[in-house]
Amino acid sequence: MEILWAPWRLSYVSRAGEEKETGCFICKALEEHPEKDRENLLLYRGERALVILNRFPYNTAHLMVCPVRHTGNFLSLLPEELAEIDSLIKRSIETLKKAYNPDGFNVGLNLGRASGGSVETHIHYHIVPRWVGDTNFMPVTGGVKVIPQSLDETYETLKRFWE
Ligand SMILES: [Zn+2]
Repeated sequence: MEILWAPWRLSYVSRAGEEKETGCFICKALEEHPEKDRENLLLYRGERALVILNRFPYNTAHLMVCPVRHTGNFLSLLPEELAEIDSLIKRSIETLKKAYNPDGFNVGLNLGRASGGSVETHIHYHIVPRWVGDTNFMPVTGGVKVIPQSLDETYETLKRFWE
């Protein structure tokens, strides 16, 4: 019973070429009315940092913590931005533990083109909950990956536990 159900990966592939035209999805989510936060998967708006769900998750409840300021330059981050990012990473992990009780987390940054990130990207820390028995990334061949919750459900769950 091998199931590979990852419609967001398909839409990612098909939308890859559009990314430049549509601009930065993080800034776009912030600029839109808070009423659209759910649609935009924006979980929390802070003063200098925010938390947003990854629309193309590596695993269930894959969060991203970002500075509000659009920059891809890690070294330009100000102490107050770093402080708020740190506190939101902590709160994200607390929330994920309460909501999903994962066995572990991968937390980190991809900086620059050679890292798998993009030079022009808006800095985002990945917070990926992990469960014993899950797999690294979504395998194209071999392993099996099931993401049991839709993004809508995940957003609702996290929103509830975030408060
Ligand atoms: Zn941006």
